[in-house]
Formats: sequence, structure tokens, C-alpha cells
Amino acid sequence: NSSPKHIFISNRLPFSVDENKELKRGSGGLVSALLGVSLDEPFTWMGFETSEFQADLFKKDASSVQKNLLIEPVLIDKKLYDCYYDEFCNDVLWPLFHYESQQTFFKQEAWDAYVLANKLMANAILKTAKDNDNIWIHDFHFFLLPKMLKDINPRLKIGVFLHTPFPSAEIFRQLPVREELLGSVILADLIGFHEHSYLRHFTVSMKAHLGIDSSFFKARIGNHILHLGVYPISIDSIGLKAKAESPKVVAQTKEYYNTINSEYLILGVDRLDYSKGLKLKLKGFKRLLRKYPELIGRVNLLQVAIPTRIKVPSYIHLKNEIDKLVGEINGEFGRPDYNPVSYIYNSVSEVELLALYRRSQAMLITSKRDGMNLVSMEYCISQNMENPGSLILSEFAGAASLFGSALIINPWNEDSIADNIYQSFIMEKEEKIQRMEGIQNILTKYSASMWARNFLKDLEGTHEGVVKGQ
Ligand code: UDP
Repeated sequence: NSSPKHIFISNRLPFSVDENKELKRGSGGLVSALLGVSLDEPFTWMGFETSEFQADLFKKDASSVQKNLLIEPVLIDKKLYDCYYDEFCNDVLWPLFHYESQQTFFKQEAWDAYVLANKLMANAILKTAKDNDNIWIHDFHFFLLPKMLKDINPRLKIGVFLHTPFPSAEIFRQLPVREELLGSVILADLIGFHEHSYLRHFTVSMKAHLGIDSSFFKARIGNHILHLGVYPISIDSIGLKAKAESPKVVAQTKEYYNTINSEYLILGVDRLDYSKGLKLKLKGFKRLLRKYPELIGRVNLLQVAIPTRIKVPSYIHLKNEIDKLVGEINGEFGRPDYNPVSYIYNSVSEVELLALYRRSQAMLITSKRDGMNLVSMEYCISQNMENPGSLILSEFAGAASLFGSALIINPWNEDSIADNIYQSFIMEKEEKIQRMEGIQNILTKYSASMWARNFLKDLEGTHEGVVKGQ
């Protein structure tokens, strides 16, 4: 009998294929967190793939890119994938979980596609997994898996981690298929959230729609025990700090000091998604220049807006509104030698990103809702501690519950944004160092691979029969 395996499930696999048709390790928080675990134990990663060519490449070459890793692509028809992913995950669950009811468009065909896609994944997992294996499901793409898997093999250990907020029960109750989703996900052995409030919202919904009580992070459903926990994700702090201090990034930072003419540069880095509050950010910045006119000519905002869902009408509309607001601010406060807002609608390379983090005097995050917000963490760990910047962070980002020494703002209040930027502008260097050290200490003590290990350790301990008191 071989020992239990870890099997990770996410919508897409942690690889992409570059222009030379070679395998490239994906970027992003989840990838570095989970691949960090593989240094000790072999594991399997399963995710959807629409191209047979890529699926073969992933299968063949994954272990050469990452030791101990077995990749199992699950082939899915492109049309089915688009319907499940775009029309249910992105048009229903993403907006609703970010409190955007008016952006939520429920269609029966999309729900049917979600059920089918989950079934396809469940069948693939059941072929691979043995009793007692640890199946770790990532995110809202697969809420139906726990029931589909447990119905066939109740001895699988199933963990679910939600990377977004879980919304207030008053929002969740608007979902037409709320009972179906909840009724399945509660059959997991462990559900993890970034923050206590997300867990609390979940337990209120579980009580409201299924009549299930919970206490002390546990709920009993017949013979099954569901464990609930808070596991804030982190970043690969040590690796990223080393990159931020590498000669390449230091040289690029120097170049930005020469080419970006700004006494006080405020940086924003967000996907151009409504959840990120980009309009609120621009309105807050405008308020700053109105309220503190002595800052005109001295403070600049550089916003990197990463394109996302570029063909979806509501995203096109949002982009147009942002273009307009940027134009208005530059029109009102600009001078021949001063352009208050610069705005890039594009991705930047990792070296450019880290150099921008180090070149800027403050990072401004105004998310309306954000599961965690990794950018805030990356910014802080990249700072040069001889002269660090300030983190100005929305209270609606999960990261705000971790970083007590950030400047915490209510992004809906223009004065809160303006006053906190002003406070960072006049802040003494010693206070900036103290605040940034507070955040860096948290990040270095608690890395992304610790997050993954903690979750997996708890998942292993929750198995029925192993849980104390049974
Ligand atoms: N990022 C990126 N391309 C860029 C700039 C940033 O992929 O041009 C990365 C950034 O480094 C971070 C991620 O995108 O790791 C964004 O994660 P976050 O949790 O802040 O927000 P999300 O986009 O997942 O909602």
C-alpha cells in the first residue's frame, strides 16, 4: 500500500507554452505556493485543457520543469469550457462573490455547462485517486466536486479553498442554485477561507439554506464532519525579495529614477476588473489634488491596468470610463511639465514590475472587494528598507486583516483616500520604516508554502475516523 497522494485541482494547469512551443512555469501566487510544496512530496496537479497538443506537452515535460510533479490535463471541449468558465464562473460566481449583483447574469445553459464540467473533472479524479488521497480543490470553479466525489468514494479526503471572498449571506441568497452549490461543498472535509468574515458569511448561508449549525469551526452533517478554517494565502517572500534585490531589478529601478520624473510616485497595479475600484482610486486622487493643491506638480499616480476579459461589454465600458476619468484629471491639473496620471493598459514583465515597486513612494490599493490582494504583499517585500514606500490599502481587501501597520482606507470615501495619501507624503522616514518592517516580518515568517502546508496538514487530520471525539 503506497502512502496517500496529494492531488491538486484548479481550473487551469500551472503551465503555459511559449512561442518556441516550450513549457513555461505559470506565474501567480497559487503556482508558487503549491509548487513550493513539491520540494518534499510528489503530487499530481489536474486542470482543464482545451488543446490536445498542449495537454500532451504538459504531461510529457512537466516533471522536467518541476521535480516531483505529475500533471494530468483533463481535456474539455472548447465550447463547453467557454460556457462553464465565461458564462457561469465569470458571469455569475465572480461578480456575486464580489458583491456586484448587477453584473451577475444567470443563464440555465451556463449552469448546465458548470454541472457538466464538474462531472468531467470528477470522473477524471476518480480514475486517478485512491482511498485516503488528499484532494485539494481550488476555488469556486468546482463547488460541485465534493458531492460528485464522495457519492462514489467516501474515503477520499477533500479540501476546498476559496480564493475569493465568500459574500454576505444576503448577497449569496440571490444565487438561483444556492442550495445545489452549498449542498455539495459541505461534503468536503475541510473548507478554507482567507479571512474570518468570509467563513462567518459561509456559516450563515449554510444555516439559512440548509439548516446546518456549526460551532468551533465544525459542522456535523449526518455522519460527516465538515471542518472550516482560515488560511490567509501568502507569497514566496524570500524568493521575491531576492529577485527584487537582483542586479537586473536594481538597474531597472535606477533607470526608472532617471526616466520617470516624479517627486512622489504613487503606484497602482490591478487587473482592469470592477472589483479593483479603479474609478474610486481616480476620484480619490482627484480629491487629493483639490484638497491639497500644494501637491500639484509634486505627486503623480502611475496606474498599471492589466487587461482582463477584454471582449466583455461591461469591461469595455469600465475601460472607457477610466480613460475618461484619467483624461479629466490630466486636463484639470496638468501643466506643460506635469502630467498627474499615467496609465498603462498592458501587462509588465516581472523585472519591470519589481522595479516599479521599488521606484514608487507609495502603493495605492482601492479594491471594492478582494479575496486577499497579492500585489500589496509583493510591493512590501520588494521595498528597499533604507528608504521604503508606504502601503495605502483598502479595508475591503483580505490583506487589510493581516497588515495592521498599513494605511487603511475606505475607498468609497474620497477624503479617506486623499487624507491617507497626504499622510504618507508628510510621514517621517522612521515611521515608514517601522510600518514596513511590521509588514515584512509577517511576510517572511509566513510564506506561501507554509500556507499550503498548513492547509494540507489540517486536511490530513480531518479524515473521518481520525478526528478526535468520533
Ligand atoms: N501581475 C501580472 N501581470 C502584470 C502585473 C502583475 O500577472 O503585468 C501579477 C501580480 O504580480 C500578482 C497578480 O498579477 O501576483 C495579481 O494578484 P492579486 O491577488 O493582486 O489580484 P487578482 O488579479 O488575482 O485579483
